[in-house]
Amino acid sequence: MRLAALAALAGCTAFDPARPIQLVTNGWSAHDQATLAAAAECWNLRFGTQLAVVPTPSADQVVAFDFDALACWSSWGRYLAGDPGHDSVCPVTDMIRSGLGDYWVGALLFTVVEHEIGHALNIPDVSSSDESVEMFSVMGENFQPSFAGGADAFSAFDAKVFGDANPDFTPAPACDHVRLVDDDDTEARCTCDQSSAFGRVAGIAITNVVPSGPDSQVTVPP
Ligand SMILES: [Zn+2]
Repeated sequence: MRLAALAALAGCTAFDPARPIQLVTNGWSAHDQATLAAAAECWNLRFGTQLAVVPTPSADQVVAFDFDALACWSSWGRYLAGDPGHDSVCPVTDMIRSGLGDYWVGALLFTVVEHEIGHALNIPDVSSSDESVEMFSVMGENFQPSFAGGADAFSAFDAKVFGDANPDFTPAPACDHVRLVDDDDTEARCTCDQSSAFGRVAGIAITNVVPSGPDSQVTVPP
């Protein structure tokens, strides 16, 4: 995810977030495709983008996803700007083998593709000196450390870097407050919280959750 040379290329082939961006997968299971769709829906809810996972692309803005162990080399995903854009994701078994740190083991694929979609929306890898805003940031240097369902899906920092990357696009969120929740089928997904009483991230108890599901069978390295 941190390939400076490739990030520099992104400016040449920026996608227009006001128009549909279709995501296609190569060799992904139904679960993996559903997880990618769930991550895309988070961006749609929060920013009014038109991301959609499709079997066959019909729009002029397309990103092709695959799994490639070479993507594990320096990080867990590798985005190549272009049209189609191309994103290689480290196979989940290899992510686990490489050591998980604080990541939520039950939502590894979701976590990675949610970040990678940000690159398709023209956002470079960014860092913030303020750890409090970077917490739970999709695009931040330490994007999404361990999170329990219920956290804000995007930080204010994410909204800022999205805006910086797309100055001509006015976000049209379908929801004022997008939260992450557990999902047995897609690892995690976003939901719109209608409750004005819902607190910010700082008010939520954070635990390293290993939800039940296929990934919970793995042994987490100490
Ligand atoms: Zn990245």
